[in-house]
Amino acid sequence: METAEIGGTPKGGVKRLTLTDLDRQVRDWFIDAAKAAGCSISIDEMGNIFATRPGRDNSLAPVACGSHLDTQPTGGKFDGILGVLAGLELIRTLNDVGYETEAPIMVVNWTNEEGSRFAPAMVSSGVYAGAFDLDYAYGRTDREGERLGDALAAIGYRGEDPVGQQKIGSFFELHIEQGPILEAEETTIGVVTGAQGTRWYDVTIVGRESHAGTTPMALRRDALAGAAELILAVERIAKEQSPPGVGTVGEVTIAEPSRNVVPGSVRLTVDMRHPAADALAAMDRQMREALTEIGTRRSLDVDADEIWYSSPLEFDPDCVGLVRAAAERQGLSHQDIVSGAGHDACYLARVLPTAMVFVPCRDGISHNEVEHAELEHCAAGANVLMHAVLARANAPAAG
Ligand SMILES: [Zn+2]
Repeated sequence: METAEIGGTPKGGVKRLTLTDLDRQVRDWFIDAAKAAGCSISIDEMGNIFATRPGRDNSLAPVACGSHLDTQPTGGKFDGILGVLAGLELIRTLNDVGYETEAPIMVVNWTNEEGSRFAPAMVSSGVYAGAFDLDYAYGRTDREGERLGDALAAIGYRGEDPVGQQKIGSFFELHIEQGPILEAEETTIGVVTGAQGTRWYDVTIVGRESHAGTTPMALRRDALAGAAELILAVERIAKEQSPPGVGTVGEVTIAEPSRNVVPGSVRLTVDMRHPAADALAAMDRQMREALTEIGTRRSLDVDADEIWYSSPLEFDPDCVGLVRAAAERQGLSHQDIVSGAGHDACYLARVLPTAMVFVPCRDGISHNEVEHAELEHCAAGANVLMHAVLARANAPAAG
């Protein structure tokens, strides 16, 4: 509730876009809190913040947990934040009872998880995992044309450490489910076994601007009407693969909108997801075919630039097993679940053992100011996170 005041909105949500001054404030807050809990802090070139509590054997790679402190423009108090603050609480709890772990324990705040101001999402855990290089990440621009690298420097969080220099032995991320499944099943803990694949596109459709009063319908090259057809095609394609396939057009921009001009240039985003790579490939093919057909029939120049592909993935069976065992040991209801959303854990899973813990959120609503998770569920998730992390940090081959 304290961090939710940083960027808090009248509707009770949080608007704390990445690398804004509000992001700087919550980062400062996190570092102060982590230092007060005895952690050492390091910051890498992507502004990722690593807060480390020493273990008995500090030659071991830390067992890390964490998530992200940035939000969507209409974000809530829990998406991302829960996973970072639960890590902080985990460390405070160990301090309270004077508990030592074998391997060090670390809490991480990953920069720009949301991808709202700078696409793609999860870019910094992506750089850590080698999915993107640093120059690519620094060169991402927001709508005003500001580069991510400059925005990082502007808030004082362009760190010195090369990305990846900070070793992580394994990673656990607690997150609200952001979907309706756990609530509907009245289950407290989601043992996340993997994540669905995602494809993001920037689509451009170019026709010809012309006078709205004098251009006969048959002679128009209306880019927006073409875009409207594509939006419905994305919906149809996703429905054919649903469940579990989903498809969304979330942004549509007319280049120079005017009431009495036939739109000549439109840019839109497409987001398609499916847990099976072959089904997602089929959705990709169908969307491209639909776009080409629309372009040909309407004499529009069309292009779909796939700016991001995250393949479906499975988390580390050992780490997933620790999450399940932690839930069982505490007598919490639990079920296996596949993540519908992307998370930093998805990139980290490419390079190190990783798992996630989900807790329910009210009505399955997220990326929304009314997003809500019950205190008892947050506490249960934090406990599961702690016991999984401790089991890992104390295992003979800790890390
Ligand atoms: Zn999140």
